[in-house]
Amino acid sequence: MYMGYIYMDIALPLGTRRNVSLAPYTTFKIGGTAKYFYIARSTKDIVDAVAQAKSLKLPFFVLAGGSNVLVSDKGFNGLVIKVQNTAYTISKTNVHADAGVSMETLVKKTGSKGLSGLQWAGGLPGSVGGAVRGNAGAFGGEIKDSIVSIRVLNAKGNIVTLIQKQCKFSYRDSLIKKNNLIVLSCIFKLEKGNKRIIQATAKDHREYRKERHPLEYPNAGSVFKNCDVKKFSKKLQEELQDVIKVDPFPVVPTAYLISQAKLKGLRVGKAQVSKKHPNYIVNKGGATAKDVLHIAKKVKNIIKKKFSINLEQEIQFVE
Ligand SMILES: Cc1cc2nc3c(=O)[nH]c(=O)nc-3n(C[C@H](O)[C@H](O)[C@H](O)COP(=O)(O)OP(=O)(O)OC[C@H]3O[C@@H](n4cnc5c(N)ncnc54)[C@H](O)[C@@H]3O)c2cc1C
Repeated sequence: MYMGYIYMDIALPLGTRRNVSLAPYTTFKIGGTAKYFYIARSTKDIVDAVAQAKSLKLPFFVLAGGSNVLVSDKGFNGLVIKVQNTAYTISKTNVHADAGVSMETLVKKTGSKGLSGLQWAGGLPGSVGGAVRGNAGAFGGEIKDSIVSIRVLNAKGNIVTLIQKQCKFSYRDSLIKKNNLIVLSCIFKLEKGNKRIIQATAKDHREYRKERHPLEYPNAGSVFKNCDVKKFSKKLQEELQDVIKVDPFPVVPTAYLISQAKLKGLRVGKAQVSKKHPNYIVNKGGATAKDVLHIAKKVKNIIKKKFSINLEQEIQFVE
């Protein structure tokens, strides 16, 4: 037993810490501890850490900006690999970015060079890798629109390059998500544009978020995906005509449905359905994952009863 522990500590990457609280590494500020926690500051660090976890048969989880996760109150009984490879280069209209680069850094740097393509992501929290995995999108744009190729680590431990088409991007989904691939880096192709307009657009989006989203409380963004209009009955489609938006295809905003169901402000413990943007659940200070899951379940059940729609969760639960 004792020998086993020594072996494990030796085999884990240098710098691995034990029993690290995960809450500070998430935008929700919720969650228990990781048994082991390692910050991977280079692509090699990520690859080696995954190989080591696998050789020890230790469950591992890749965490980046922590803006799309809800960590269990019990934490994670394995190795959390915090992706923090942050190198990037911009050459003419090509951008090569490590998975750990923050989207905001990229939006600002490319904008300052008059490169158009990422301005939709002004104010989007999180990293390139997290955005690619979930095909992040907002204001009519999606990350898939600018991607040329990505480098991933596959289940066999091989590094492979996938061109955009192979990534099978769809609404908040991708092959990376489906197959649990790990994004190491990404190549974007942008276009030359008007620097002033590009920067102003990104700024407008940041301001819109500040105004409309409950950023004053810790949260993890939209809890549920918006709902494909086609999934509603014909009668409801007609009734909801005025609220349908095209982003990236015709959807009924889940925030609207939650609001119609009079669930704004619904509270369980210290978690609450935001009154400002009801597709957000906010942490009013000391909320637990159990509180959030309780609310999410309640919202799902009520929306199902009222609109015959199954809400799909956007946030990833980590346990
Ligand atoms: C205030 C707020 C507003 C938001 N607005 C939007 C929005 O407008 N549009 C939108 O799409 N999203 C939005 N989000 C959600 C979130 O910002 C995105 O999903 C973001 O892309 C997640 O990136 P991350 O680095 O924080 O990922 P994390 O939260 O760290 O991880 C999310 C998932 O991605 C995986 N992951 C992370 N890095 C990698 C990698 N390198 N390779 C493989 N898997 C990886 C993790 O394992 C986890 O499953 C919002 C969130 C917040 C808090």
